[in-house]
Amino acid sequence: MDHSARSASFAAASTRIVDVLVPVALNQTYSYRVPRGMELKAGDVVGVPLGPREVLAVVWAENANPDPRLHNRLKDVSEKLDVPPLKGELRSLVDWVSNYTLSARGMVLRMTLRMGENLGPERARMGVRLVGQVPKRLTPARRRVIDVLSDGLLHGKSEAAKEAGVTTGVIDGLVDEGTLSVEAMPRALPPPPPDPGYAQPEFSRQQRTAVDAMRALAANGSFHVALLDGVTGSGKTEVYFEAIAETIRRGKQSLILMPEIALTGQFLDRFASRFGVRPMEWHSELTPRTRARNWGAISAGEAPVVVGARSALFLPYADLGLIVVDEEHDQAYKQEDGVHYHARDMAVVRAHIAKIPIVLASATPSVETEVNARKGRYQRIVLPSRFGGQHMPHIEAIDLRREAPSRGRFISPRLAGEINTAIERREQALLFLNRRGYAPLTLCRACGHRFACTICDAWLVDHRFRQRLVCHHCGFSMPRPSACPNCAAEESLVAVGPGVERLQEEAAALFPNARTMVLSSDLITSIETMRSELNEIAEGRVDIIIGTQLVAKGHHFPRLNLVGVVDADLGLGNGDPRAAERTWQLLNQVIGRAGRDQGRGVGYLQTHQPEHPVMKALVACDREAFYENEIASRERTLYPPFGRLASLIISAGDRASAEGFARRLAALAPRDERVQVLGPAEAPLAVIKGRYRFRLLLKSVRGFDLSDYLREWVALGPKPKGNLKLEVDVDPQSFL
Ligand code: ADP
Ligand code: ZN
Repeated sequence: MDHSARSASFAAASTRIVDVLVPVALNQTYSYRVPRGMELKAGDVVGVPLGPREVLAVVWAENANPDPRLHNRLKDVSEKLDVPPLKGELRSLVDWVSNYTLSARGMVLRMTLRMGENLGPERARMGVRLVGQVPKRLTPARRRVIDVLSDGLLHGKSEAAKEAGVTTGVIDGLVDEGTLSVEAMPRALPPPPPDPGYAQPEFSRQQRTAVDAMRALAANGSFHVALLDGVTGSGKTEVYFEAIAETIRRGKQSLILMPEIALTGQFLDRFASRFGVRPMEWHSELTPRTRARNWGAISAGEAPVVVGARSALFLPYADLGLIVVDEEHDQAYKQEDGVHYHARDMAVVRAHIAKIPIVLASATPSVETEVNARKGRYQRIVLPSRFGGQHMPHIEAIDLRREAPSRGRFISPRLAGEINTAIERREQALLFLNRRGYAPLTLCRACGHRFACTICDAWLVDHRFRQRLVCHHCGFSMPRPSACPNCAAEESLVAVGPGVERLQEEAAALFPNARTMVLSSDLITSIETMRSELNEIAEGRVDIIIGTQLVAKGHHFPRLNLVGVVDADLGLGNGDPRAAERTWQLLNQVIGRAGRDQGRGVGYLQTHQPEHPVMKALVACDREAFYENEIASRERTLYPPFGRLASLIISAGDRASAEGFARRLAALAPRDERVQVLGPAEAPLAVIKGRYRFRLLLKSVRGFDLSDYLREWVALGPKPKGNLKLEVDVDPQSFL
């Protein structure tokens, strides 16, 4: 043994090594030395040097058998952050999700540390107070600051500057003069915790059975999946609130996942009327400061209830005791970029790992969940009718082949007549069309030129409010020209087909005295304006609401009794294996907005195919017929949940490279009789943002480990280099 080896083994005896996971696109952990005097265990959040940078990382494991020769080459952990360690349960979830989705472990970890440099104890905010003499040189700006601070109280520095309409430089000047003093602001007090006994409602007899089941499941506290299956307006929210109340009593945290957090204003208020305070929110619109504060509160166990978008699933709860997935069937739970995960499915995984109960709530469960309930894997808790005796809406089809609107119009005479009657009765009507903008296509009457995106395989959508033609895939937009760019004809451009903006024009012409409002995601400037518009509707200050799927979800508009679906067939013909299911869910949800409070709700479906099984099931309010039919068809074709799917999406800047790569990859697919590899085929959306796209679809039998198969295959295949990109999507929801 030479000298250097001896010193290395000496170091091994006295130095601990840890393997840390870094929140970047890497799978493997890296080893670092633990400096003397630092205590580290798995889950601790640390800072480590990585290349030239200092990065955040999480201790994944102690390295018990480090190679002594590496020792001197390893770097030291630089610091341990003062935050609670990530629990084993969350680390297992990160490993599990990474393994299942084939996403880099570091990228999954990143979702748990969603606050980057803001990690760690909150820095104190500085405030200013008026303490001294008015300075000799008194500018108008200084005068205004002194006026604002004349109460002698401590004001936030930037707030004071804003209120006085000056820059913070003016305030600094007054501090230098001794007129103002700088003091640390007291920390905002955490809100009082939700009170489980604050205002418990009286439940109907039907609800009581469900409430008992909710309380039992929460009290039991072990892994258990329940489907809360209740028609729209049956009180699912009130009922699952009782599971939350029970969980609060047990001193544990609850997470409520929502598909569309921007729309939860009403929900927050309802929560507050039940529990006395609003729950903590988690979504992408939070300011960095609020994010950091909420993250801290959640990990310290100071946030008993969190309501959030799918990303809230990955937060480091100190003691999670219950998960509720509201509108579990919603497509928005699938993340379609970065880590391709389905938040509902991963929520069940988290509940399983953490050994806690989970409630999936829906009026129109996904076929996957419905099958799990039928097979007894999930407990079904039913709310079969509306609370307060309200009837479910009556649904009628309007056969557009027989009752066509007049040329250039989209509202049939019968629907228009019904809307008129509703308005005369001082009720609201909702016109639903799941298409943003004014018209999906613009063409030149003279030469037939169609306006398409320059970098996507898509038509440009006419947006009249913004006065631009817009690509819905990449955001490209251009002003609507006055002449055709192809043949130079003037005044020759025509809008083809309807979007919500065009419907508003038609509604204004048909019902000149009615107040209309368009609700569409592209018209929302902020969550706050959205919430206030929804309030206006709820308060009855709008007669006709014209909206996209944004209005379908969860809202309670007491005066809304009529829903007209302008194009019920819209979602049926897109080649998606879940097209029928999606149409069923969306139309049930949107018609379910009608008749929730008083009077009878009614829904009209304008359709070209009233004999389609989905339309027939909707009109007959025959839920059983829909699921029977759909489940049988999935079983026959071995689509989920009776078989499994995965997609590989290959894209490149030019068509030939994308196709070539896809073909070489396809040729290397490992042979296995349990898997079928379909394609490569050009994607239905063949070009997005100038990238050419090819898809491979994998279909396997039910119990097959598709992730493992994919891993093996991708490892065998060519490596995507340069401009090529290979995306793996296990359990795809989108097939575009
Ligand atoms: P769902 O989520 O099933 O569509 P909601 O939970 O939104 O139904 O309930 C529909 C309406 O009925 C809401 O306004 C809700 O406040 C009310 N409601 C439901 N159950 C009760 C109850 N037990 N007591 C009072 N109001 C209730
Ligand atoms: Zn585009």
